[in-house]
Amino acid sequence: MNNTRKSGQEPATARDVRSVVILGATGSIGRSTAEIISGSAGAFRVEAVAGGSNPLALAKLARTLGAKFAALADPSGYAELKESLSGSGIKAAAGDAAVVEAALRPADIVMGAIAGTAGVAPTFAALSAGRTVALANKECLVCAGAPFMRQAAAAGTRLLPVDSEHNAIFQAMGDANLDTIEMITLTASGGPFRTWTSEAIAKATPEQALNHPNWSMGPKITVDSAGLMNKGLEVIEAHYLFGVDAARLDIIVHAQSVVHGLVAFTDGSVTAGLAAPDMKVPIAHCLSYPERSTTAARRLDLTATGQLTFERPDFERFPALRVALDALRTGRGLPTVLNAANEIAVAAFLNRLISFHDIARMVEEACNAALADGTAHEPETVADALAMDHAVRERARSVLRQRAACA
Ligand code: NAD
Ligand code: MG
Repeated sequence: MNNTRKSGQEPATARDVRSVVILGATGSIGRSTAEIISGSAGAFRVEAVAGGSNPLALAKLARTLGAKFAALADPSGYAELKESLSGSGIKAAAGDAAVVEAALRPADIVMGAIAGTAGVAPTFAALSAGRTVALANKECLVCAGAPFMRQAAAAGTRLLPVDSEHNAIFQAMGDANLDTIEMITLTASGGPFRTWTSEAIAKATPEQALNHPNWSMGPKITVDSAGLMNKGLEVIEAHYLFGVDAARLDIIVHAQSVVHGLVAFTDGSVTAGLAAPDMKVPIAHCLSYPERSTTAARRLDLTATGQLTFERPDFERFPALRVALDALRTGRGLPTVLNAANEIAVAAFLNRLISFHDIARMVEEACNAALADGTAHEPETVADALAMDHAVRERARSVLRQRAACA
């Protein structure tokens, strides 16, 4: 890997060009990644793109970026993808194996930006092949954190955090010894329901949950953010990524989303990562790491922001946060259970099958059920984690079917 150019705007020489695979290219993070690459004056070359179920959007992106390979997870979109790429020289493929093939194409860096647990297998494949992975997909670490971190160490590669809080913390930590870190704090915007009563939150509609005040993101993470489950997933992500236990991970609500993460050291010093709330900032940081590039990402203007406010999270109004932190503290595979049940619950909420309030309740019930029947255990491998994930989903779906039958 060589990316020693002084400025992102100077023309790149062939030797400098960094090759990239984008998994989840048509999503929010994927499109922002594409924008950074398109504006980089040739600092990056896109080897492959992968998407879920939109062949036209994927083909368009593949052409714009000059990718060599485009993989769509949904096999039913193959004919349309192939047709849309005809004459371009870009190879089209579809199905889960094609997404893994995209992940394994030769590249300096793989952007892991698939939404949800669908990202686990392809991202793990890239990591196992020794690729540097820029990780947006937090579900990878919540579902299978220990196997991911072990594999990264075994393959001698790095997971670079794209999630804004983790990226800020990564930058604020520098090369500090873990023993000198007293507390790592992730900030939370508080989402659209920050000032709402419990009663109002319980009855929130998908439209209200999808109306995030600071960030424009995919639907799953936006709903996760509204109930603060996202922050719970992020604390679990931070636990694995930085190797610190739950007692040294804190959360504060900071409505302006300017300070993304803080690191407090044993001597009383605190370093923090600040930036405008624009995912292009951490994406660009990861793509060029350990160098820096010049981007058109939003700039931070503290005087325009005026006031920065900080408050404690309210576990009563946002029970999902408590459920997630309990899962981390209990361990025994509960983060894997939590992640799987949450994905089913969020989809059910978006399909108007359950209320907003039911999301945290369903997830907590799934964790309790897995503890009660002894199926919860620390997954040893990614395959083990995915098998647990599958079983939890099946059970959650059957709970939903029973509810529908009783309604
Ligand atoms: P999104 O829903 O906008 O995009 C998801 C992408 O994944 C799409 O391209 C979709 O087609 C693709 N996809 C779905 N299933 C797939 C499969 N089986 N194979 C290949 N591609 C598949 O989601 P997003 O907001 O971009 O989030 C992506 C990930 O990044 C999530 O894990 C999220 O938690 C994380 N993240 C997002 C943000 C953000 O600002 N959007 C911030 C931090 C972390
Ligand atoms: Mg985040």
